[in-house]
Amino acid sequence: MPRALITGITGQDGLYLAELLLEKGYEVFGLIRGQNNPKADLVSRTVPGVTLLPGDLTDMSSLLRALQTAQPDEVYNLGAISFVAYSWEQAALTTDVTAKGVLNMLEAIRVWSQGDLSKIRFYQASSSEMFGRVQEVPQRETTLLWPRSPYGVSKVYGHYLTINYRESYGMHASSGILFNHESPRRGPEFVTRKVSLAVASIKLGLQDKIVMGNLDAQRDWGFAGDYVEAMWRMLQQPTADDYVIATGETHSIKELLDIAFDSVGIADWAPYVEQNEAFFRPAEVDLLIGDPAKAKETLGWEPKVGFQELVQMMVESDLKLLSEKS
Ligand code: GDP
Repeated sequence: MPRALITGITGQDGLYLAELLLEKGYEVFGLIRGQNNPKADLVSRTVPGVTLLPGDLTDMSSLLRALQTAQPDEVYNLGAISFVAYSWEQAALTTDVTAKGVLNMLEAIRVWSQGDLSKIRFYQASSSEMFGRVQEVPQRETTLLWPRSPYGVSKVYGHYLTINYRESYGMHASSGILFNHESPRRGPEFVTRKVSLAVASIKLGLQDKIVMGNLDAQRDWGFAGDYVEAMWRMLQQPTADDYVIATGETHSIKELLDIAFDSVGIADWAPYVEQNEAFFRPAEVDLLIGDPAKAKETLGWEPKVGFQELVQMMVESDLKLLSEKS
């Protein structure tokens, strides 16, 4: 039975990946941070087959202990402080976890494996935020990185360090440059979930408006459930490499609002939407749109869920969630 250790198990991707690996017959371990982490219950309810191990990406000895217990064949490093807007407010913490955490994990693996790195495969969650001020449209694996936030800068460090461990030690270390990926499990601070929750709430008469930031921002949004499949496929390749995982389509926040409101029968959303400077970013990324051609060709990976279906799925799920609560 193959064994996997996932950091970031409490997040959207951690949960989908754990489900996928359990289905494939893996023994799955998840690293969980903090004392009495309130999300431990969520993990135990959603993926009861996962064994939780205490640890923190900023504490290398805790990573060594987790590796010792899990004895993993595959490590998926999904743990990060991942909210871009917050990364300006907590730049040092974001660097410690999102950047230096990758170093801690790679070093822990190197020490734990006692120089025999052939027994382990590593996945690093890189991000389209690394492209920031885009140097090429669409963005590919070879596009020059130009991050526009402390989060993006931290992800660039993790990305290059992963490549460096592959080149320095011959480690099977791959990096997935994932464009935005969403689901009903997305945190409510991210724009898609903020909108799906608000639209469901407006429909149920629990709220009368939503306050937004930049409505012209554009993203390449896919479904998280499709994207974790790509992570797994990367680690099954004979050689490690880097891959852009994206849909190849871009949509604006306005289009997101169109589909979300339309799915509850509201054709004109203008009366329900306000804008406030507080939700604008000090710097925006440009036109993010990924070219997933390499993933398609080498991994045989393609996204299955389209943008409209994704947004409708999220609104429907939030309608159900809020109706059950009220
Ligand atoms: P990100 O791509 O990781 O930053 O994902 P987000 O979902 O947080 O933001 C996506 C885009 O939506 C960014 O360009 C934001 O500027 C834009 N946006 C517009 N209004 C909002 C809002 O109210 N909240 C958030 N989170 N983003 C917003």
